[in-house]
Amino acid sequence: MNYQKIAEMLFPNNSLTVEDIEKKYPPRNLKEGAEVTRFAPSPTGFMHIGGLFQAIIDKNIARRSGGVYMLRIEDTDKKREVIGASTIILEILKKYGAEPDEYEEKGVKVVGEYGPYFQSEREEIYKAYAKKLVSEGKAFPCFCRKTEGLNDVKEKREKMFSLGLTEDKDPCRNLTEEQIEEYLKAGKPFAIKLKSKGNGLGKVKIYDVLKGELEMQENGEDAVLLKSDFMPTYAFAHAVDDHLMRTTTVVRGEEWLPSYPLHMEIFEALGFKPVKYVHTPLIYKIRENGGKTKISKRIDAEADMRYFSKEGYEPEALEEYLINLANSNFEMWRKENPLAPISEFPFDGFNITAITPVFDIVKLNDISKELIAKYSAEVCYDKLLKWAEENSIENVDYLKKDREYVIKVLNIDREKDKPRKDIYKWGMFFDYYDYMFSAPKAYQVEESERKKFEEVLRAYKKYLDLTDKNIWFDKIKEMSSELGYAVDNKEFKKNPEKFKGNVAKVCEFIRVAITGQKNSPDLYEIMSVLGKDKVLERISLIV
Ligand code: GLU
Repeated sequence: MNYQKIAEMLFPNNSLTVEDIEKKYPPRNLKEGAEVTRFAPSPTGFMHIGGLFQAIIDKNIARRSGGVYMLRIEDTDKKREVIGASTIILEILKKYGAEPDEYEEKGVKVVGEYGPYFQSEREEIYKAYAKKLVSEGKAFPCFCRKTEGLNDVKEKREKMFSLGLTEDKDPCRNLTEEQIEEYLKAGKPFAIKLKSKGNGLGKVKIYDVLKGELEMQENGEDAVLLKSDFMPTYAFAHAVDDHLMRTTTVVRGEEWLPSYPLHMEIFEALGFKPVKYVHTPLIYKIRENGGKTKISKRIDAEADMRYFSKEGYEPEALEEYLINLANSNFEMWRKENPLAPISEFPFDGFNITAITPVFDIVKLNDISKELIAKYSAEVCYDKLLKWAEENSIENVDYLKKDREYVIKVLNIDREKDKPRKDIYKWGMFFDYYDYMFSAPKAYQVEESERKKFEEVLRAYKKYLDLTDKNIWFDKIKEMSSELGYAVDNKEFKKNPEKFKGNVAKVCEFIRVAITGQKNSPDLYEIMSVLGKDKVLERISLIV
């Protein structure tokens, strides 16, 4: 067989050679040990939280080793592509602390020398490598489906057996030069397939960074490399691209593990140096029945990263949360280093301890609360405004007009040794601090206490003094004694029947009158931010 001739017949106009291409993508000039990673999503929808999980691992592997992390869009399946998906992916990566070092913004800019970073723009490259494999007898054209009508699985299998081939082998691997020529002259479309050396029965050893060495069934399939439209399959494209982009570590979902032996055979056929693989676990969620299943875009709003943007989660909180999911030492480290930036947590992207990570929004909220509690009121204001500009336009004018007031509200119980940890997303701000913007619509007061409640408020009109916290409280105490409430708690505990209640009860009544609820941040701060007039106005609504 003259493979060279067959290769020329199949790709007559392909002048770009593998040698030219290799020259264009030389080994990277990086220090010893530097890792090159890539996040390689298919633009088939929104950005999944599991995608960000992988991207954060990619980023950490690259950054912490002084390497490079790229974004490569795997858009060879045009039927499944969703317009605009690649833009959303890049936006989310930039926003959530996983901005790639190399990427392409379609029609705007290309950052990096190893592009194009959209696979659909690399067609000529894939053809050149496919041609090379054919010229070496390692791949062959398959005219099957469309030429011999072998759509029927049974028919195809019988034909293969009659040729003495195992199930996975394709009959077209045995076509003669003349047959190929004849089919090409007739204009028959063809795919390029790998001429697998395996029979699918032997074993191969593979290595995954997280799982260690594994033994798997060798590949025996004459897998498609280029489809009849010359678009590559994932298996072929990733091998060519990861070689040319000089990737050192491939981070991808563990659903790709079963096809590893095929990928290994393709790398070998192409003569490429193997890369390291990190197959990341999928993210699960506990269901109502106690079981757990994969977090899914069909049933879980949190599967789509846009959910967190809309709700106003802090991007850093997501980053911390996902690193916490990946490495179980995070929690302890955070306790010991409450103020340290996440970049100081020893996570190099390889030290993933998670086997079945389970998404837990309560934990995410806690991380987010801790983070937001560290910000100054001004920083909070800027973040709140930015969130509103993108997600809550109706509040923007107000936020701008009353900047000073909003900052004061944000400063309640903040910028102190033990700041209050309540807000975990900007979307909850207006609901949470509803009483700072309008009078309560309901009051948490029992009917049996209504009389006492009103009596206290009536009296308080005279005692209200916001000069400073001590005076404010002294006055409340003075009023409490006057009305028959205990000021000394010990005394109250000894003889409760002698009093209507204690000063804490009085404060509770005032709190309910101002905020509607029995629990709130520091009452004095709330009242002084509202100001004397507003406080009196609120009391007058009741008595
Ligand atoms: N496009 C593949 C996916 O979205 C990429 C897998 C990989 O990273 O190699 O699953």
